[in-house]
Amino acid sequence: MNLEGKVAVVTGSTSGIGLGMASHFAKLGAQVVINGLGSDEMIASAIKSASGAKEAHYNGADMRDADAIAAMIAEAEEKFGAVDILVNNAGIQHVSRVEDFPAEKWNDVIAINLSSAFHAIKAALPGMQKRNFGRIINVASVHGQVGSVEKSAYVASKHGIIGLTKVVALENAEQQITCNTICPGWVRTPLVEAQIEALAAKEGVDVEQAAKMLLAEKEPSLRFATPEQLAETAAFLCSDAASNMTGVNLTLDGGWTAR
Ligand code: NAD
Repeated sequence: MNLEGKVAVVTGSTSGIGLGMASHFAKLGAQVVINGLGSDEMIASAIKSASGAKEAHYNGADMRDADAIAAMIAEAEEKFGAVDILVNNAGIQHVSRVEDFPAEKWNDVIAINLSSAFHAIKAALPGMQKRNFGRIINVASVHGQVGSVEKSAYVASKHGIIGLTKVVALENAEQQITCNTICPGWVRTPLVEAQIEALAAKEGVDVEQAAKMLLAEKEPSLRFATPEQLAETAAFLCSDAASNMTGVNLTLDGGWTAR
């Protein structure tokens, strides 16, 4: 697998799954553009991880801001000549029953997890169509396929991004442009660590026991998927073997949705 000569933009890549993907793409030779929030140290460390033969470029676009997202894609095209691979990965969670769910949290989750992908795809497609090449990978979730209590906005956003993926796939099917989703189950990143810590506090157990409880509730394999595994899956979607694979989900959930 070789991504030399390719330019990859990965949203939400200062941490977790996005960072794993950006770092793997760099190892495979791509020029990587990273994005996401975090302290100066965190961003510097992400730039280092996502640099290979070519130094990664950081763009701090807020994924709630459509104009900033379009400008990020335009900047990548201007600086590096193309956006060949776009990974829409940035995401947040908020846990609360619907009747208590703050409207501003709903808006943020939908904006970051779903609308940002629309804005980035919209900005990247004309260049991909002109060059007749594109690999769009949307990081959804098992929550794009099934629900869980207290996650209304997250589940809605992830079901939405699977729908968006299918439409983008169909609209570009005759070109060398694919659009697919990756649906992880539990991955032990800061997004999930917050949920593990909340469960530990609620149940009066330590964090490792809470992690086991979290897995036992949903994931028959009782194992977390890793950012590295998801990064290799994303790279596969960029390979020739996957060039006729579009509009599908690749689910890495340890059996969660098989039940
Ligand atoms: P994470 O918290 O480690 O990373 C989230 C990334 O999104 C960070 O880089 C963060 O800075 C960025 N981000 C958040 N708000 C942003 C904003 N307004 N503008 C720009 N960037 C912003 O979480 P993660 O677990 O790596 O999540 C990555 C994706 O994977 C998300 O879409 C998440 O829904 C999805 N996912 C995660 C799991 C899991 O178990 N961790 C499971 C299924 C799907």
